[in-house]
Amino acid sequence: MATAVLRGSGQRRLLRGHPWIYRSDIQEVQGSAEPGEVVDIAAPNRQFLGRGTYNPRSQIVLRVLTTEAEAIDAAFLRRRIAAAAARRQGLAGPEAAYRVVSSEGDLLPGLIVDRYGPVAVAQFLTAGMDRLREATLEAVESLLTPRGIYLRNDASVRALEGLPLERGWARGDGPEQVEIREGPCRFRVDVAGGQKTGFFLDQRENRLAAREVAAGRTVLDCFCYTGGFAVHLAEAGATLVEGVDISPEAVAAAEANARLNGLEGRCRFRTANAFDELRALDKTRRQYDCLILDPPAFTKGKEAVGAALRGYKEINLRAMRLLRPGGILITCSCSYHIDEATFLAMLEEAAADAHCRMRVLAVRTQAADHPILLGVRETRYLKCVFLERL
Ligand code: SAH
Repeated sequence: MATAVLRGSGQRRLLRGHPWIYRSDIQEVQGSAEPGEVVDIAAPNRQFLGRGTYNPRSQIVLRVLTTEAEAIDAAFLRRRIAAAAARRQGLAGPEAAYRVVSSEGDLLPGLIVDRYGPVAVAQFLTAGMDRLREATLEAVESLLTPRGIYLRNDASVRALEGLPLERGWARGDGPEQVEIREGPCRFRVDVAGGQKTGFFLDQRENRLAAREVAAGRTVLDCFCYTGGFAVHLAEAGATLVEGVDISPEAVAAAEANARLNGLEGRCRFRTANAFDELRALDKTRRQYDCLILDPPAFTKGKEAVGAALRGYKEINLRAMRLLRPGGILITCSCSYHIDEATFLAMLEEAAADAHCRMRVLAVRTQAADHPILLGVRETRYLKCVFLERL
């Protein structure tokens, strides 16, 4: 086995519990390692620090898997996946949808496993995890006993790792369309054609929390995808819910989900760019009792944070103005380069420019099946703020 010898900077990162080691954190690699191969990790003084996977093609050259002298084999993967599944026991059920393995948050960098009722969906996002694929699938199959495991290895981050984009059944051939339950609502999830692995599981607790403010309100759900927030709010007593998404497939799926719950009479979806839509509504002085903003990440890198903040500010400013006094804004950001303090500061600016006084009702994050590691800030990526217009 090759050994990656760290510099002091790399050693400090590892000892603080961060699983990512960059090229500049590495002094030398002794021996040769294929992209994705497991290597020993050593301190500048050659003391053993742990094991991880090595990929010279990635910015993140080394991903730490363990700081113990244990083998990275099928038994190791089984232990880690079993521990992750055990932490989600309360979420399990025949129609339940939840994240079983959340990459770094479950100490398995590069691996996502989601459960949608009878099927599991897996993503191998790093060269290291990709090399451990067969043993990982074995473990998932024997621990979760799904009807099938669908591979969504079509995430663009795989290209940065030098990996091909692909999808399809890795095990079994379970249905691609599955019906899941979240709280009292049902949703049809397309594990093959949907965005990400089919559903935005990280917003589950926020969707359930949003139900509390729904009764009697008119709602505009921007970036509604397949109607997650919209359907919940309608079910929880909103009088009329409008949903907007730029993807016609998402809008069609949202309409189907409203029907599935018998709520088509109170839900209206349309395909549109939410930026244009908010601008147009602002001109007509339309008012709502509740607005939801759950856009995709506006930045995937540090460079574009300024532009992303301008985008967030624009939609939030307009959303605030569209609210009636007493109205609620539920506003989210899943860009981890924008932390909670920066997001709140942006909201403060938006409120000031919109001449709206807003009360913070709740500052929330992702659902607990997407665990946050202290010291690994990248694992804490979702912000979801509930505001009331005074
Ligand atoms: N709230 C949803 C998830 C939203 S994901 C849920 O709970 O399920 C973000 C959505 O924004 C995606 O469906 C994507 O198609 C949509 N989107 C991206 N850019 C957009 C734009 N400019 N206008 C409207 N929708 C957009």
